[in-house]
Amino acid sequence: MEITYPFAKVFTDSTNKLNIFFFHDAGHSTFQQIGDIGTGIVDFCELDFSATMEKIKALETVKVTNANLEDMKKIYWEAVDLLKEKHSYAHFFLNGDLLRNFYNCDRPEDEKAGYANFIFQYYINLQAVYAEALEFCLSNEVLSEYTLPERYVMFCNLHPDFTHHILRSMYSVAPMERGKFDAERIIQFNDPNDVDIKSVLQDIHRDSEHSVSMWQYFAIQSLEEMLYLEFMEMVKRGIRIKRCGLCDRYFVLADKRKRDYCDRIFGNGRTCKQLGAKKRFHENVEADIYLQEFQRIYNRMYSRFYRMDAWDSECQTNKLTETEFKAWTSMASKARQEYKQGMICGENMVRMISDDKNI
Ligand SMILES: [Zn+2]
Repeated sequence: MEITYPFAKVFTDSTNKLNIFFFHDAGHSTFQQIGDIGTGIVDFCELDFSATMEKIKALETVKVTNANLEDMKKIYWEAVDLLKEKHSYAHFFLNGDLLRNFYNCDRPEDEKAGYANFIFQYYINLQAVYAEALEFCLSNEVLSEYTLPERYVMFCNLHPDFTHHILRSMYSVAPMERGKFDAERIIQFNDPNDVDIKSVLQDIHRDSEHSVSMWQYFAIQSLEEMLYLEFMEMVKRGIRIKRCGLCDRYFVLADKRKRDYCDRIFGNGRTCKQLGAKKRFHENVEADIYLQEFQRIYNRMYSRFYRMDAWDSECQTNKLTETEFKAWTSMASKARQEYKQGMICGENMVRMISDDKNI
């Protein structure tokens, strides 16, 4: 399929950053190094879409006419713009999908609003799939009896669609230095005609007389492709995730250092890490018997829902239904969050998650 603007060229290298050229249109591009790998997808899964979806839901009941379509488009753009500055790349790709919808000459005008609604719902579904993929494959807190490759294969058995993704890959001359993308040698220009190609190539190839510094990149046009690429890079590199000891949201473990808290702002302009350092002084997170008990019960429920089916889809166990499991995990996560933030005591949290009829 042909690539159309806006799209991104993503170069991976031996560092834990993604080197991305965002092509907004034929004459306008920006370069960004995004790291650490995994942060984009984890942040997307933790992104709050509620304000955006409220605007979209209000449009679903509106009857589309030629007279009101332009006004509706404005609301779709506003809904996307609510995500601006909240995420490293989600806004860029959502914006691209809306542009391709509204400027698609082959799609009748009266179908464009319906398709826009579909796009937004699609992102909500993507969020659920990738949140599940992250926990199943890369969180240390569940399925710890399995290795990472086992977990990945089990996840693919559960979600066969997931293995059908195809990414478009191309080659380009790029400034590479010992396996790393050399961002300092990238030239920024306003007009392509201003670029002296000969001297650019001489600069890129300054330390190579014969070979061409040719590097593979991915041409990424949709949010789904971008999430898939980043997720696969995490799996390939074994990058794990962990729940923050304070806000309870997932964060990326970028290196081997032991970390319990994330870098998000929690309150009064201070991050979980800053506030957590104080908390840690008074109590030892790992020795917390209530969180240990929580994890034991959570793992039991998690295994009951996934384990057998993941290896063999024919094998039916006396297990929880998806609805039961989802309802239980959402109740349990809420209880854990309240406990971590000191709103309920540990005994209460354990009682809440054990009292359920499914246990
Ligand atoms: Zn946090």
